[in-house]
Amino acid sequence: MSALPQPTISLVSPNLKSLPTPKTLLKTLSSSPSLTHLKQIHAQILRSNHSHSHTLILKLLLFSPSLPYSLSIFSHLPHPLPSLSTRFVRHLSRSSRPEFALFVYLRLRNEGIKIDRFTFPPLLKAVARVEGLAEGKEIHGFGFKLGLDSDPFVQTGLVGMYLACGRVLEARLVFDKMSYRDIVAWSIMIDGYCLSGLFDDALELFEEMKRANIESALMTMYASCGCMEMAQKLFNQMAPKNLVVSTAMVSGYSRHRRIEDARLIFDQMVEKDLVCWSAMISGYAESDQPQEALRLFNELQSLGMRPDQVTMLSVISACAHLGVLEKAKWIHVYADKNGFGGALPINNALIDMYAKCGSLERARGVFEKMTRRNVISWTSMINAFAIHGDANNALSFFHKMKEAHVEPNGVTFVGVLYACSHAGLVDEGQRIFASMINEHKIAPKHEHYGCMVDLFGRANLLREALEIVETMPLAPNVVIWGSLMAACQIHGETELGEFAAKRLLELEPDHDGALVLLSNIYAKEKKWQDVGELRHLMKERGISKEKGCSRIELNNEVHEFLMADRNHKQADKIYEKLDEVISQLKLVGYFPNTRSVLVDLEEEEKREVVLWHSEKLALCYGLINGGKDSCIRIVKNLRVCEDCHTFMKLVSKLYGREIVVRDRTRFHHYKDGLCSCKDYW
Ligand code: ZN
Ligand code: ZN
Repeated sequence: MSALPQPTISLVSPNLKSLPTPKTLLKTLSSSPSLTHLKQIHAQILRSNHSHSHTLILKLLLFSPSLPYSLSIFSHLPHPLPSLSTRFVRHLSRSSRPEFALFVYLRLRNEGIKIDRFTFPPLLKAVARVEGLAEGKEIHGFGFKLGLDSDPFVQTGLVGMYLACGRVLEARLVFDKMSYRDIVAWSIMIDGYCLSGLFDDALELFEEMKRANIESALMTMYASCGCMEMAQKLFNQMAPKNLVVSTAMVSGYSRHRRIEDARLIFDQMVEKDLVCWSAMISGYAESDQPQEALRLFNELQSLGMRPDQVTMLSVISACAHLGVLEKAKWIHVYADKNGFGGALPINNALIDMYAKCGSLERARGVFEKMTRRNVISWTSMINAFAIHGDANNALSFFHKMKEAHVEPNGVTFVGVLYACSHAGLVDEGQRIFASMINEHKIAPKHEHYGCMVDLFGRANLLREALEIVETMPLAPNVVIWGSLMAACQIHGETELGEFAAKRLLELEPDHDGALVLLSNIYAKEKKWQDVGELRHLMKERGISKEKGCSRIELNNEVHEFLMADRNHKQADKIYEKLDEVISQLKLVGYFPNTRSVLVDLEEEEKREVVLWHSEKLALCYGLINGGKDSCIRIVKNLRVCEDCHTFMKLVSKLYGREIVVRDRTRFHHYKDGLCSCKDYW
């Protein structure tokens, strides 16, 4: 390589009266100036102190009619950014003087200036054009030192470089190591064999490419259809496993709730892109593992990756699932800061998240701020009111929605009917159900009939509830029989309840809810023999009542309690507090209500079981550790039992605390001894 040419810059420009702006300089540069003119512009840039302008310098390099002059400018730049070097190297690699790209490389390398992965492909292309094998090998070695030799684009560049230098074996070695090959890499290698006259090798590789492409196409298809066994079989045969096929497997497993299998592949991947992270996060969010979804989201951030809207939606839904308000607020701020605040789907998801985290005010705050609202926004808000037992607002928003000429859909009606049924608004619910069919021409589905059965059932209109079941045009499913059965249980209607539970078990013999409810009905009637038989049946089938579990979030930490849990590090203090609360409550007439306990225990033991329900433990933890005025927020996976409901009401009065409990379907806001559900849940 010859010595670098020296720059010859004329710093004197006779025509220069006032200093030009960068804009005028850019304009002049873009008009293909002559070398003399370009030198003048260069001088102006230096004099006017614009020499730090990345754009101006780049234009100067790219528009110079003399490549040696460009090179001399570059060699005098104090600290060229990798992006500028890359653009210049690419320019040179395509020019009549590709060897100049090597001067650039030498300068950067010798002075220890940063070179990134994007500089390598054009650099290798320049080497290929000058057939500089020694330089190419040196660059290969340097790339290896930087850990870039596994980057698919660098590898493709290396294959092309070795082939251009007549080194087919070296090229093939790099090619075989590639973990991801796109069509460009395959064709460069096949082309290389052809150019070297190695037609058999070319043909063999061509067949391999076809096989690999068909395999990966088939595998992706199986994965997206959920035929994970077939997909996994093909995936196992594949070598190398590239980013695209691995991501397809992760998405396939996640979508079909096989989260452990998805994670296995996810963890084995060397390189992951956002699509892959997003698939994994939404997999956790939808598989009842919201905490893991949020943990993975934190990891993604710590890697400096920016989530896209799909990932954000998964994270928001995970937070909604978890029901933790502090985390919800944080995610809201994060979404705003990262430019997601204006997106309609994000705002709709935020409404749902805040509602499920117990803050109706914040859900409403998001709704009010929205500049554009669609049917999902309105439906989410109506649902928010419904699950918080605010039937008045649910109905008023339903009317406002219609005034705003937003047409309600089937989901909207589920929310409105739910609100009516939980508030005991039988007439209103009936009217709305009729309007859905007659005015809005929406054919009711199972969930609508379920709401109607619930509406009548809760109001102790069991005859009307049964009439719905008997006259509905669809075959009643488990949801319908389940609603009827639950209503019968609330009102102690054993005969009809037993009938409903048996129909339910015909449809789903393993339905644990039906078995439990049936045994509850027998338990209430003290038919202990029937209870025993059912429990035996359940044991035999390996079914047991889902364990009650309550969560409470305090100081950004989530604490989980099971029934009679003694695993918490503050367990002793919690049970001490529980004893204290019980004795305080007994002074105002509290007595444990054991009606929800289905096991055949002595009355004394039953009382103990009720007192150790997980939400009572979470409540005591909140009483010990929360601030005096702060609201205690608990998320429970099952329906709150009658005893816990009374307990919470009394604590809210005696201890002057606000308590918010989210159970399986709705919220209870306890304040001054009352609950927002008006004891109707
Ligand atoms: Zn309870
Ligand atoms: Zn309540």
